Amino acid sequence: MPHETRTTEAMKPTDAAYQSSTGALDVDKDFYRSIAEAPATLVESFTIPIRSGQAWEVPAGHLCRIIEAEGPQVGDLNIWSRHNPRERMWAAKTRQLQAAHVTTFDRLWSTLPYLRPLATVTGDSLGDYGIDSDGGRVHDLLGSRCDPYTNRLLSGEDFDFHCHSNLTRAVLPYGLTEFDVHDVLNVFQVTGLNDEDKYYNKACPAQKGDYFEFFAEIDLLCALSTCPGGDLSIRQWGPESRDPLETCRPITIEVRRPAPSYLEGWSQPEPPPYQGRHGMPSPQWPTQ
Ligand code: ZN
Repeated sequence: MPHETRTTEAMKPTDAAYQSSTGALDVDKDFYRSIAEAPATLVESFTIPIRSGQAWEVPAGHLCRIIEAEGPQVGDLNIWSRHNPRERMWAAKTRQLQAAHVTTFDRLWSTLPYLRPLATVTGDSLGDYGIDSDGGRVHDLLGSRCDPYTNRLLSGEDFDFHCHSNLTRAVLPYGLTEFDVHDVLNVFQVTGLNDEDKYYNKACPAQKGDYFEFFAEIDLLCALSTCPGGDLSIRQWGPESRDPLETCRPITIEVRRPAPSYLEGWSQPEPPPYQGRHGMPSPQWPTQ
């Protein structure tokens, strides 16, 4: 006997599960539109070569733009609180609170017990990509990073320039390790789930100059790997795989400080004020 879906009149089964009755998921679009267009000072700019990683800081109230330097290339992004690496981007909760692919005005949320927006997306030149004929969407939170362990498992070979390794080397100067590297936002990457509910990715649709930009809600440490899969047009694992080196390109990072007057009224988000006791009472010293 087939299983039936149960629902109530008030709720469609396909409604987003996570909805706010406090306004916590509302975004002041006018503010983020204006900050994205504000006069701004370039404070840092560098280009990450192919098959490597780099970490950098984005102070609270600054904008960070990730730019296709020469053409299509996927970038694997990690984000931490600059002052506390236990607070870091939480891909799974961001999928629930926002969507499995993110674009302008979506927020990137942090892990428990912090759970606040680390960043808000302010610009996406692929924002009109939408959903393609295969059901794919761009800027992926479904997948994770490529890594040398899965690679060894699937190919029997060692390779030291997967995103996990690139990110690990990138954060070492900041005192972080492999254990701090976490599930990524795959910038410029098109993915979806196929008819068998399996993860797929497609060739990156970006062109030189395409960008993805976010506003730092708190002081951030970021790291990005130029994926060794390049634009993902060549299969990396399985019988049809070959080295996609010819599709690898660099990615440029720019950090800008908007004119301070444009930040009026904005303040850094605070974690929800749940006290974290999980129902446990305070211990009492036994008295007679
Ligand atoms: Zn990768």
